Amino acid sequence: MGATTIPADLLPRDGRFGAGPSKVRPEALARLAEIGDGLLGTSHRQAAVKDQVARLQDGLRGLFNAPEAYDVLLAVGGATAFWDSLAFGFVEQRARHYEFGEFSGKFAAVTRMAPWLDEPDVVSAPVGQRPEISPAPGCDVQALIHNETTTGVVQEIVRVDDALVAVDATSGAGALPVDLNNADVYYFSLQKGFASDGGLTTAFVSPDGAQRIEGISASDRYIPAFLDLSTALDNSRKHQTYNTLAVATVILAAEQVDWMRETFWDLDGVVEHQQAKAQTIYGWASSRSWARPFVEDEAARSTVVATIDLDDAISADEVNAILRANGVLDTDAYRKLGRNQLRIAMFPAIDQADLQAYTACVDWVVERMGA
Ligand SMILES: *Cc1c(COP(=O)(O)O)cnc(C)c1O
Repeated sequence: MGATTIPADLLPRDGRFGAGPSKVRPEALARLAEIGDGLLGTSHRQAAVKDQVARLQDGLRGLFNAPEAYDVLLAVGGATAFWDSLAFGFVEQRARHYEFGEFSGKFAAVTRMAPWLDEPDVVSAPVGQRPEISPAPGCDVQALIHNETTTGVVQEIVRVDDALVAVDATSGAGALPVDLNNADVYYFSLQKGFASDGGLTTAFVSPDGAQRIEGISASDRYIPAFLDLSTALDNSRKHQTYNTLAVATVILAAEQVDWMRETFWDLDGVVEHQQAKAQTIYGWASSRSWARPFVEDEAARSTVVATIDLDDAISADEVNAILRANGVLDTDAYRKLGRNQLRIAMFPAIDQADLQAYTACVDWVVERMGA
């Protein structure tokens, strides 16, 4: 070990930099123990639990300055289950997808496999880039992804035609700027930007979106009850879910939202801080001869997940192994990307000082590797 023990004064205070799940703030975990004692293990149909659900819904509304008429929907199952829900209960006939990484591709695969839908209209871009959002004649949904977690590329949330806009914001929500007027379903799991645990999806739903959901639900299309968005919508309005939810996930997320509002006031405040954090990583990578940001177009570069390519002479696997042995965790490139790359999450729960420390650790390791 000796030679690869990073000096303690270089190490981050918290070494969790994985692109999902996010680091959970210890303060939030302590609050969970406090609030959860007496609450976990009680009925989720009673006021005490529903109050926590309402607290999360209201907190999100405030953070995002959500339009009054929007619903804050909760659905059990995470973003992956939500793709099925959208295929069953939101896409009328044909969806436009933008595929530029693993997650955007997975949703496209869902609508492609759904026998009741037409073949989707898929616009692709090579990994590390993003396709242009364009009108999609004949499509009734524009499926966007706010942050392609696997490549560190962001998409802007815009309306370009009459199709309803569904945004996978799982890793971008709470960190990237958005005007919710440009989205009809803005959905995200809570284990990334909201530093909670997995298994629950939250979505802002516009009145047009709710109308679409209710219309399809009333049609004769078969929809499994668990995936039925109109059932989720009804339950969300009563601060509950169709089947049992993870109360701990709700409490952790509500804590995170409250902390974000106390610390940064609103989404604009968070976004500004994210930009400063991103500059710490991209600025560092750009100033090292052996590293560079993978995403060349600065406007497409994520301020929540950074992807940094290394020279071939420096094995990212080796760097990551040494970091891991020192408690600096999970900055491996997305495995299917197959690049010699570091992927560093900068979720709101991750401190700028720790990102700074991360860069110092990598410098130290690379120097020892004799590159
Ligand atoms: C993590 C992630 C998902 C998958 O979320 P689950 O809650 O695990 O289903 C989907 N989309 C994006 C953009 C993600 O980052």
